[in-house]
Amino acid sequence: MDPKAVVEQLAKLVAPEQINTNEDDLYVASADRYKKYAFARNVLDVPAPVAIVYPKTAEQVSELLKFCNEYDINVIPRAGMTATEGGLENWKDTTLVIDTQKLDQIVKIDTYNSQATVQAGVPLQVLEDELRKLGYTTGHSPQSKPVAKFGGLVATRSIGQFSTLYGGIEDMVVGLECVFPDGTVSRVKNVSRRAGGPDIRHIVIGNEGALCYITEVTVKIFKYYPENNKFYGYLTKDIETGIKILREVMVNGFRPSVARAYSEEDAAQHFYHFYEGKCIVLFMAEGPKGIVEATGVAIEEAVKKFEEGIIKQVDSKLIEDWFNHLNWSQQDIDDEYAEMRTNASHAGYTTEISADWETIPKIYDAVIARVRAEFERADDLTMLGGHSSHSYLNGTNMYFVYNYKINCEPEDELITYHHPIQKIIVEETLKHGGSMCHHHGIGKYRSEWTKDEHGSAYYMLEKLKEAFDPKGIMNHGTIYPVKELNKYIYQQD
Ligand SMILES: Cc1cc2nc3c(=O)[nH]c(=O)nc-3n(C[C@H](O)[C@H](O)[C@H](O)COP(=O)(O)OP(=O)(O)OC[C@H]3O[C@@H](n4cnc5c(N)ncnc54)[C@H](O)[C@@H]3O)c2cc1C
Repeated sequence: MDPKAVVEQLAKLVAPEQINTNEDDLYVASADRYKKYAFARNVLDVPAPVAIVYPKTAEQVSELLKFCNEYDINVIPRAGMTATEGGLENWKDTTLVIDTQKLDQIVKIDTYNSQATVQAGVPLQVLEDELRKLGYTTGHSPQSKPVAKFGGLVATRSIGQFSTLYGGIEDMVVGLECVFPDGTVSRVKNVSRRAGGPDIRHIVIGNEGALCYITEVTVKIFKYYPENNKFYGYLTKDIETGIKILREVMVNGFRPSVARAYSEEDAAQHFYHFYEGKCIVLFMAEGPKGIVEATGVAIEEAVKKFEEGIIKQVDSKLIEDWFNHLNWSQQDIDDEYAEMRTNASHAGYTTEISADWETIPKIYDAVIARVRAEFERADDLTMLGGHSSHSYLNGTNMYFVYNYKINCEPEDELITYHHPIQKIIVEETLKHGGSMCHHHGIGKYRSEWTKDEHGSAYYMLEKLKEAFDPKGIMNHGTIYPVKELNKYIYQQD
């Protein structure tokens, strides 16, 4: 169906103010932050979508998906637009972006049962602000909290800074509503636990818009005790000492809300005023007083155990202040784009992976060595390092961070810099048995390795796509590899 006809047909499904064909908005809707440099320089090479549509109900989403399914129109679900891996990038000529903007209601806050229900377009910050008034918190605090919305947070399996206590979004979602390409509206009810077969919430959580459209989510809520918060920070000789201390606290059964270890290069970015050229390990403990105190003792004992690697303790106020300024607002995102328009450099591309305790330091060393030895533009790197920011009983994540000067045409930045570094990180992670993707999702830019990530379990992932989206209209190229990879990543036909 040609673009004009698509828009004409849309007008039969939703009201005129729910359809947006503004050219500038369509340019914004054609990519996300993986290609943010090309986007800022106005040289994006991908097609713009035909329109952005703003449904108001699950029924309207159902009608829109049925229409797209019938006419083979690619659908990109969209929420807060903070995606970093190409999940919002468009690789099809005829695409509709279905935006959650008008699904913006907090449906219910239920403090007795410790859960809150929101539509998919509610920003996390909005629910958090309402809960704080009642003495509660979502416990979910990704750095993008001021901007990200529930549909996107659930679709990407996001994780927040306090995950070591509260878990990732998958630990918080108790039920949800979603819509499939054939128009079926499914509701997974809200209960405290279930054993009625496989847990079907997990088909939806993390689907990145490649299987279904999320319209409503119910999450757990937690009592909030800010008066008990405690912060701890230490300079360490190396990142490995930091990781050993994180492990010690976790395997002894404690759950600080924050547990992080930084390389010196990454510490320089965040803690330049006190890091003294060293690595950092830091913690935050929160919750009821007795738990905070016991956690604090456990942290101090772990630090003592590895004292030969500790240089000194840091004033806890410095750690607390740093936390209070960590999140990114829409203004910060806009400022970053403005900076990239005039400045041929970039600060802050990242790739996040995970593995068990034993393997994480090996992956870290292997990646740093390979990037330095093999990456052709290594001389342009202005920073290469990382931190562990989410820990578990059996392992942790590593968040690689890399900044560089850009000495090429803006349209070649991705193939010259960003993607070759990401490729080394993913290859080394998979080679060592880790997961190539800890919390940003696969998007389009890690889909070339989806089969390697899942191995023989890819069979199950493939069958989900065949079953729920047999015509492949949902977010073409996201999670599942497609032929356009060569065109839009490697610039080959
Ligand atoms: C500054 C910054 C900091 C960040 N910090 C973190 C962090 O700490 N932790 C973390 O996990 N991530 C982080 N991210 C990544 C990003 O914020 C998360 O992936 C977030 O969950 C995306 O939510 P969103 O509402 O912006 O979704 P979008 O960017 O709009 O969409 C993300 C993906 O979800 C799909 N999607 C959106 N809505 C729906 C829906 N209703 N149904 C089905 N699929 C849908 C989209 O198609 C896309 O594939 C950060 C990003 C930025 C820019």
